[in-house]
Amino acid sequence: MISKKALQEKDHQYLWHPFTQMQEWYTEEPLIIDRGEGNYLIDADGNRYLDGVSSLWCSVHGHGRREINEAITAQLKRIAHSTLLGLSHRTAILLAERLVEITPSGLTKVFYSDSGATGVEIALKMAFQYWQQRGAERFREKTKFLYFTGAYHGDTVGAVSVGGIDLFHSLYKPLLFEALPLPASYTLVEKESTLKKVRRIIETRHREVAALIMEPVIQGAAGMRPYPSGFTREVRELCRANEVLFIADEVATGFGRTGKMFACEHEGVLPDLFVVAKGLTGGYLPLAATLTTTEIFDVFLGSVEEKKTFFHGHTYTGNPLGCAAALASLEIFEKDHVLQQLQPKITFVLKGLAPLQALRHVGEIHQVGLMVGIELFEDVAARRPFSPGKRMGHQVATEARRHRVIIRPLGDVIVLMPPLSVTEEEIDTLLHAVYLAIKAVTEGDAIR
Ligand SMILES: *Cc1c(COP(=O)(O)O)cnc(C)c1O
Repeated sequence: MISKKALQEKDHQYLWHPFTQMQEWYTEEPLIIDRGEGNYLIDADGNRYLDGVSSLWCSVHGHGRREINEAITAQLKRIAHSTLLGLSHRTAILLAERLVEITPSGLTKVFYSDSGATGVEIALKMAFQYWQQRGAERFREKTKFLYFTGAYHGDTVGAVSVGGIDLFHSLYKPLLFEALPLPASYTLVEKESTLKKVRRIIETRHREVAALIMEPVIQGAAGMRPYPSGFTREVRELCRANEVLFIADEVATGFGRTGKMFACEHEGVLPDLFVVAKGLTGGYLPLAATLTTTEIFDVFLGSVEEKKTFFHGHTYTGNPLGCAAALASLEIFEKDHVLQQLQPKITFVLKGLAPLQALRHVGEIHQVGLMVGIELFEDVAARRPFSPGKRMGHQVATEARRHRVIIRPLGDVIVLMPPLSVTEEEIDTLLHAVYLAIKAVTEGDAIR
């Protein structure tokens, strides 16, 4: 077996990590994960860490879940990959049926891809092409997209075009297509005035707009920032009233994260296009799906000569192993009554967060279901942030590892997003570790 030390050296020699300043990375010893077991990650020395962010928001029922392992193994014995271009296969068909059953009503067709970003690209292109092929000449002017400030929809160029996080997105501006930003509101006080602005933009620009894309109910990468209650539904209704398609990006919020199967259900939102990825396979394999309505689908029908085909596809589209994992994950939701079991855990998290709220440098704490964002400020009352060079969020995450908990912050927002299979005892462990880590780093009295 290759030693941990050798792996760490090779990591520095060969890898380029995502969203990582590699110069900083080289100053640290990389933690090398060797195995997963339930809600725990196990490193090369055999240390067990609670997976506090579900391996980047993916893991749903924990790692090494027997039913999912068995489903993948059974599929592997049949075939690991076959294409959906010109052929079909069993798990892709059966998963599509299940997705249509469980997603908001009206969504009837499933188009597979392999990541959240590709799922978003597909939704954008479908919306664009829909209006080009709708018939009336005036619809052909509907070529632009609306997005919210703070939005995150992935890192490919199309998804970045509708991204609203300057730090990630502004440099790439020259590469992007034109999209119109909408102001996001995060408080009930601002809700009506923000909606008024959103309405004015939609009403004045709708003739040139194909679709609006949003993360329903809560923005993830913006720092776990929930919209005020009812905001998503009102935006959806504005779209309906103005011939603008509504794309729900449930890549982060899907599969129980917010307490319901999908965030749209909190507000009875029925989207025109719907994107899922991260938790789709239970967090096992890269698979995404873009769902749409019969109305949109039908506009792509015609003879080959009419060229109304959706000319899009990724080589590993609808990978059979991924689809088998997803089917097994959805079966667990039913068999274990995962959503019912989740409700007391959500309340338990809410109660457990109270002591953190009392910490000197903790600002607002946002929670929707098992999605939690804890804001850190140098001066909470003045909402003055720490200087970015201090990397407070990063330091807290590093400190939390001493308490055997893995978290990954978004800037100075501490993100907690444990698997749905987390137990109350593990929630206690997670919150206590994060409490100690925040206190040690921000108040400087590290308990080592
Ligand atoms: C993570 C995320 C994406 C991108 O998914 P990838 O699989 O990383 O491409 C898109 N939208 C939202 C809301 C996300 O959280």
